[in-house]
Amino acid sequence: GDKRLRLPPWLKKEKVLASENENVKRLKKQMKELKLATVCEEARCPNIGECWGGSKDSLSTATIMLMGDTCTRGCRFCSVKTARAPPPLDPMEPEHTAKAVASWGVGYVVLTSVDRDDLLDGGASHLSKCVQALKQEKPSVLVECLLPDFSGNHDSISTMATSGLDVYAHNIETVERLTPWVRDPRAKYWQSLDALRFAKKAKPGLITKTSIMLGLGETDDEIRTSLEHLREHEVDVVTFGQYMQPTKRHLLVKEWVTPEKFDYWADVARSMNFLYVASGPLVRSSYKAGEFFLENVLK
Ligand code: SF4
Ligand code: SF4
Repeated sequence: GDKRLRLPPWLKKEKVLASENENVKRLKKQMKELKLATVCEEARCPNIGECWGGSKDSLSTATIMLMGDTCTRGCRFCSVKTARAPPPLDPMEPEHTAKAVASWGVGYVVLTSVDRDDLLDGGASHLSKCVQALKQEKPSVLVECLLPDFSGNHDSISTMATSGLDVYAHNIETVERLTPWVRDPRAKYWQSLDALRFAKKAKPGLITKTSIMLGLGETDDEIRTSLEHLREHEVDVVTFGQYMQPTKRHLLVKEWVTPEKFDYWADVARSMNFLYVASGPLVRSSYKAGEFFLENVLK
Protein backbone atom coordinates (compact mmCIF):
# COMPACT_ATOMS: atom_id res chain seq x y z
CA GLY A 1 0.00 0.00 0.00
CA ASP A 2 0.88 3.63 -0.07
CA LYS A 3 3.08 4.35 2.92
CA ARG A 4 3.07 8.05 2.35
CA LEU A 5 1.82 10.27 5.15
CA ARG A 6 -1.13 12.51 4.40
CA LEU A 7 -0.41 16.20 4.13
CA PRO A 8 -1.11 18.07 7.35
CA PRO A 9 -3.50 21.04 7.28
CA TRP A 10 -0.75 23.67 7.38
CA LEU A 11 0.72 22.40 4.12
CA LYS A 12 -2.60 21.94 2.33
CA LYS A 13 -3.64 25.53 2.41
CA GLU A 14 -4.18 27.53 -0.73
CA LYS A 15 -1.38 29.84 0.37
CA VAL A 16 0.91 27.20 -1.08
CA LEU A 17 -0.10 28.72 -4.41
CA ALA A 18 1.93 31.80 -5.08
CA SER A 19 0.11 35.07 -4.93
CA GLU A 20 0.61 36.59 -8.34
CA ASN A 21 1.34 40.22 -7.68
CA GLU A 22 2.62 42.58 -10.35
CA ASN A 23 6.25 42.14 -9.40
CA VAL A 24 5.99 38.36 -9.67
CA LYS A 25 4.36 38.62 -13.08
CA ARG A 26 7.00 41.03 -14.32
CA LEU A 27 9.88 38.83 -13.12
CA LYS A 28 8.32 35.73 -14.65
CA LYS A 29 8.11 37.47 -18.00
CA GLN A 30 11.70 38.70 -17.79
CA MET A 31 12.92 35.27 -16.78
CA LYS A 32 11.36 33.76 -19.88
CA GLU A 33 12.91 36.37 -22.14
CA LEU A 34 16.33 35.89 -20.57
CA LYS A 35 16.08 32.08 -20.66
CA LEU A 36 17.36 31.85 -17.10
CA ALA A 37 16.55 28.70 -15.17
CA THR A 38 15.38 29.61 -11.69
CA VAL A 39 14.92 27.07 -8.95
CA CYS A 40 11.95 29.16 -7.83
CA GLU A 41 10.06 28.26 -10.99
CA GLU A 42 11.51 24.83 -11.79
CA ALA A 43 10.86 23.51 -8.31
CA ARG A 44 7.50 25.32 -8.22
CA CYS A 45 8.62 26.84 -4.96
CA PRO A 46 5.61 27.88 -2.87
CA ASN A 47 7.41 30.99 -1.65
CA ILE A 48 7.65 32.72 -4.99
CA GLY A 49 5.04 35.31 -4.03
CA GLU A 50 7.06 36.30 -0.99
CA CYS A 51 10.53 36.11 -2.53
CA TRP A 52 9.74 37.75 -5.87
CA GLY A 53 6.89 39.93 -4.75
CA GLY A 54 8.91 42.24 -2.48
CA SER A 55 7.58 45.77 -2.72
CA LYS A 56 11.08 47.05 -3.33
CA ASP A 57 13.37 45.45 -5.91
CA SER A 58 16.19 45.57 -3.40
CA LEU A 59 14.29 43.07 -1.23
CA SER A 60 13.35 40.51 -3.84
CA THR A 61 15.29 37.25 -4.02
CA ALA A 62 15.60 34.68 -6.77
CA THR A 63 17.60 31.47 -7.08
CA ILE A 64 19.38 30.60 -10.31
CA MET A 65 20.92 27.24 -11.21
CA LEU A 66 24.40 27.12 -12.74
CA MET A 67 26.55 24.41 -14.34
CA GLY A 68 23.65 22.60 -15.99
CA ASP A 69 20.74 20.50 -14.83
CA THR A 70 22.59 17.21 -14.27
CA CYS A 71 24.40 16.33 -11.05
CA THR A 72 27.17 13.78 -10.54
CA ARG A 73 25.62 12.83 -7.20
CA GLY A 74 22.35 11.21 -6.28
CA CYS A 75 21.03 12.35 -2.93
CA ARG A 76 17.91 10.47 -1.84
CA PHE A 77 15.88 13.60 -1.12
CA CYS A 78 16.67 15.45 -4.35
CA SER A 79 14.95 15.25 -7.73
CA VAL A 80 17.79 16.67 -9.86
CA LYS A 81 18.87 14.13 -12.49
CA THR A 82 22.17 12.27 -12.18
CA ALA A 83 24.96 11.25 -14.57
CA ARG A 84 28.59 10.24 -14.13
CA ALA A 85 29.74 12.70 -16.79
CA PRO A 86 27.27 15.54 -17.36
CA PRO A 87 27.67 17.74 -20.47
CA PRO A 88 30.63 20.18 -20.40
CA LEU A 89 30.27 23.61 -18.81
CA ASP A 90 29.07 26.51 -20.93
CA PRO A 91 32.00 28.96 -21.12
CA MET A 92 29.55 31.78 -21.87
CA GLU A 93 27.55 31.15 -18.71
CA PRO A 94 29.34 33.74 -16.52
CA GLU A 95 28.77 36.52 -19.05
CA HIS A 96 25.20 35.53 -19.89
CA THR A 97 24.18 35.14 -16.27
CA ALA A 98 25.72 38.48 -15.34
CA LYS A 99 23.96 40.33 -18.16
CA ALA A 100 20.64 38.68 -17.45
CA VAL A 101 20.69 39.25 -13.70
CA ALA A 102 21.85 42.84 -14.10
CA SER A 103 18.99 43.65 -16.45
CA TRP A 104 16.51 42.28 -13.98
CA GLY A 105 14.92 43.93 -11.00
CA VAL A 106 16.24 41.73 -8.27
CA GLY A 107 18.41 42.90 -5.39
CA TYR A 108 19.54 39.57 -4.07
CA VAL A 109 20.51 36.54 -6.11
CA VAL A 110 21.19 33.04 -4.89
CA LEU A 111 23.45 31.17 -7.29
CA THR A 112 23.17 27.47 -6.80
CA SER A 113 24.56 24.57 -8.76
CA VAL A 114 24.67 20.84 -9.15
CA ASP A 115 27.74 18.98 -7.86
CA ARG A 116 30.35 18.36 -10.55
CA ASP A 117 32.66 15.68 -9.18
CA ASP A 118 33.77 15.08 -12.78
CA LEU A 119 35.65 18.41 -12.82
CA LEU A 120 39.03 18.70 -11.12
CA ASP A 121 38.06 21.76 -9.09
CA GLY A 122 34.40 20.79 -8.80
CA GLY A 123 33.53 23.80 -10.93
CA ALA A 124 34.90 26.41 -8.49
CA SER A 125 36.79 28.46 -11.07
CA HIS A 126 33.72 28.58 -13.31
CA LEU A 127 31.42 29.57 -10.45
CA SER A 128 33.80 32.24 -9.23
CA LYS A 129 33.85 33.69 -12.76
CA CYS A 130 30.05 33.87 -12.60
CA VAL A 131 30.19 35.82 -9.33
CA GLN A 132 32.89 38.18 -10.62
CA ALA A 133 31.10 38.87 -13.90
CA LEU A 134 27.88 39.58 -12.05
CA LYS A 135 29.50 41.91 -9.53
CA GLN A 136 31.22 43.76 -12.36
CA GLU A 137 27.98 44.16 -14.29
CA LYS A 138 25.89 45.21 -11.29
CA PRO A 139 27.89 45.89 -8.12
CA SER A 140 24.78 46.61 -6.05
CA VAL A 141 23.38 43.10 -6.37
CA LEU A 142 24.02 40.92 -3.35
CA VAL A 143 25.15 37.41 -4.15
CA GLU A 144 24.70 34.30 -2.09
CA CYS A 145 26.22 31.08 -3.43
CA LEU A 146 24.74 27.78 -2.34
CA LEU A 147 27.74 25.59 -2.99
CA PRO A 148 28.75 21.92 -3.18
CA ASP A 149 31.20 20.49 -0.63
CA PHE A 150 33.91 20.40 -3.35
CA SER A 151 34.83 17.02 -1.81
CA GLY A 152 36.59 18.97 0.90
CA ASN A 153 39.02 20.60 -1.56
CA HIS A 154 40.30 23.67 0.28
CA ASP A 155 41.57 25.35 -2.89
CA SER A 156 38.08 25.27 -4.39
CA ILE A 157 36.47 26.46 -1.16
CA SER A 158 38.96 29.29 -0.95
CA THR A 159 38.40 30.26 -4.61
CA MET A 160 34.71 30.67 -3.86
CA ALA A 161 35.13 32.34 -0.47
CA THR A 162 37.27 35.05 -2.07
CA SER A 163 35.27 35.37 -5.31
CA GLY A 164 33.38 38.45 -4.13
CA LEU A 165 30.24 36.67 -2.97
CA ASP A 166 28.37 38.08 0.03
CA VAL A 167 27.11 34.87 1.65
CA TYR A 168 28.75 31.43 1.49
CA ALA A 169 26.08 28.76 1.85
CA HIS A 170 26.50 25.02 2.02
CA ASN A 171 23.78 22.74 3.36
CA ILE A 172 24.45 19.99 5.85
CA GLU A 173 20.82 18.95 5.03
CA THR A 174 20.38 16.61 8.02
CA VAL A 175 21.86 15.40 11.30
CA GLU A 176 25.02 13.31 11.49
CA ARG A 177 23.40 9.86 11.89
CA LEU A 178 21.10 10.25 8.87
CA THR A 179 23.68 11.78 6.53
CA PRO A 180 24.82 8.54 4.81
CA TRP A 181 21.20 7.57 4.22
CA VAL A 182 19.88 10.95 3.07
CA ARG A 183 22.79 12.36 1.07
CA ASP A 184 24.97 10.83 -1.64
CA PRO A 185 27.68 8.64 -0.02
CA ARG A 186 30.34 11.09 -1.18
CA ALA A 187 28.79 13.78 1.01
CA LYS A 188 30.09 13.57 4.56
CA TYR A 189 28.75 15.35 7.60
CA TRP A 190 32.14 16.43 8.94
CA GLN A 191 33.40 17.32 5.49
CA SER A 192 30.50 19.73 5.12
CA LEU A 193 31.17 21.31 8.51
CA ASP A 194 34.83 21.64 7.61
CA ALA A 195 33.92 23.33 4.31
CA LEU A 196 31.89 25.94 6.19
CA ARG A 197 34.63 26.57 8.69
CA PHE A 198 37.34 26.73 6.05
CA ALA A 199 35.36 29.24 3.96
CA LYS A 200 35.46 31.62 6.90
CA LYS A 201 39.13 30.97 7.47
CA ALA A 202 39.86 31.78 3.82
CA LYS A 203 37.92 35.05 4.10
CA PRO A 204 37.58 36.24 7.68
CA GLY A 205 34.26 37.96 8.33
CA LEU A 206 32.48 36.10 5.53
CA ILE A 207 28.88 35.20 6.36
CA THR A 208 28.30 31.45 6.26
CA LYS A 209 24.95 29.74 6.09
CA THR A 210 23.45 26.25 6.17
CA SER A 211 20.09 24.48 6.03
CA ILE A 212 18.60 21.50 7.76
CA MET A 213 15.53 19.57 6.58
CA LEU A 214 13.25 18.26 9.30
CA GLY A 215 10.91 15.28 9.06
CA LEU A 216 13.46 12.62 8.07
CA GLY A 217 13.42 10.81 11.41
CA GLU A 218 15.98 12.92 13.29
CA THR A 219 15.59 13.28 17.07
CA ASP A 220 15.53 16.53 19.03
CA ASP A 221 18.85 15.69 20.66
CA GLU A 222 20.42 15.12 17.26
CA ILE A 223 19.19 18.48 15.99
CA ARG A 224 20.50 20.22 19.08
CA THR A 225 23.89 18.54 18.65
CA SER A 226 24.04 19.62 15.00
CA LEU A 227 23.32 23.21 16.01
CA GLU A 228 26.20 23.00 18.47
CA HIS A 229 28.47 21.63 15.74
CA LEU A 230 27.44 24.49 13.45
CA ARG A 231 28.28 27.10 16.05
CA GLU A 232 31.60 25.37 16.74
CA HIS A 233 32.31 25.78 13.02
CA GLU A 234 31.32 29.47 13.18
CA VAL A 235 28.29 29.14 10.93
CA ASP A 236 26.26 32.37 11.10
CA VAL A 237 22.89 31.56 9.58
CA VAL A 238 20.72 28.47 9.83
CA THR A 239 17.38 27.68 8.23
CA PHE A 240 14.96 24.84 8.95
CA GLY A 241 12.33 23.54 6.53
CA GLN A 242 10.09 20.52 6.14
CA TYR A 243 11.41 17.68 3.96
CA MET A 244 8.91 17.00 1.17
CA GLN A 245 9.21 13.82 -0.88
CA PRO A 246 9.69 14.99 -4.48
CA THR A 247 8.63 11.69 -6.14
CA LYS A 248 7.64 8.17 -5.07
CA ARG A 249 11.21 7.01 -5.62
CA HIS A 250 12.59 9.37 -3.00
CA LEU A 251 12.79 9.00 0.77
CA LEU A 252 9.49 8.89 2.59
CA VAL A 253 8.56 11.72 4.91
CA LYS A 254 8.83 10.35 8.45
CA GLU A 255 7.10 13.21 10.19
CA TRP A 256 5.24 16.42 9.46
CA VAL A 257 6.89 18.82 11.86
CA THR A 258 4.35 21.30 13.22
CA PRO A 259 4.68 25.05 12.75
CA GLU A 260 5.01 25.34 16.56
CA LYS A 261 7.97 22.98 16.53
CA PHE A 262 9.61 25.05 13.80
CA ASP A 263 9.16 28.11 16.03
CA TYR A 264 10.72 26.16 18.87
CA TRP A 265 13.82 25.40 16.78
CA ALA A 266 14.06 29.04 15.75
CA ASP A 267 14.09 30.01 19.45
CA VAL A 268 16.69 27.38 20.30
CA ALA A 269 18.95 28.54 17.46
CA ARG A 270 18.53 32.22 18.37
CA SER A 271 19.49 31.43 21.95
CA MET A 272 22.70 29.94 20.55
CA ASN A 273 23.60 33.25 18.94
CA PHE A 274 23.17 32.49 15.29
CA LEU A 275 23.16 35.80 13.43
CA TYR A 276 19.91 34.90 11.70
CA VAL A 277 17.47 32.00 11.75
CA ALA A 278 14.57 31.16 9.42
CA SER A 279 12.36 28.25 10.36
CA GLY A 280 9.01 27.03 9.07
CA PRO A 281 7.39 24.19 7.15
CA LEU A 282 7.80 25.95 3.81
CA VAL A 283 11.10 27.67 4.47
CA ARG A 284 13.78 26.87 1.88
CA SER A 285 17.41 27.84 2.29
CA SER A 286 16.95 30.87 0.02
CA TYR A 287 13.63 31.95 1.53
CA LYS A 288 13.47 35.76 1.54
CA ALA A 289 17.24 35.80 1.83
CA GLY A 290 17.46 39.38 0.57
CA GLU A 291 15.26 40.61 3.34
CA PHE A 292 17.40 38.90 5.93
CA PHE A 293 20.54 40.43 4.55
CA LEU A 294 19.25 43.97 4.39
CA GLU A 295 17.70 43.82 7.82
CA ASN A 296 20.45 42.06 9.68
CA VAL A 297 23.74 42.60 8.00
CA LEU A 298 23.68 45.97 6.30
CA LYS A 299 21.78 47.77 9.04
FE1 SF4 B 1 20.73 17.20 -5.52
FE2 SF4 B 1 22.80 18.66 -4.63
FE3 SF4 B 1 22.62 16.06 -4.02
FE4 SF4 B 1 23.18 16.85 -6.51
S1 SF4 B 1 24.46 17.13 -4.68
S2 SF4 B 1 21.74 15.22 -5.93
S3 SF4 B 1 21.91 18.70 -6.71
S4 SF4 B 1 21.21 17.70 -3.37
FE1 SF4 C 1 13.11 31.04 -5.03
FE2 SF4 C 1 14.31 30.17 -2.80
FE3 SF4 C 1 12.41 32.02 -2.64
FE4 SF4 C 1 11.76 29.53 -3.28
S1 SF4 C 1 12.59 30.19 -1.33
S2 SF4 C 1 11.01 31.39 -4.30
S3 SF4 C 1 13.56 28.90 -4.49
S4 SF4 C 1 14.41 32.25 -3.66
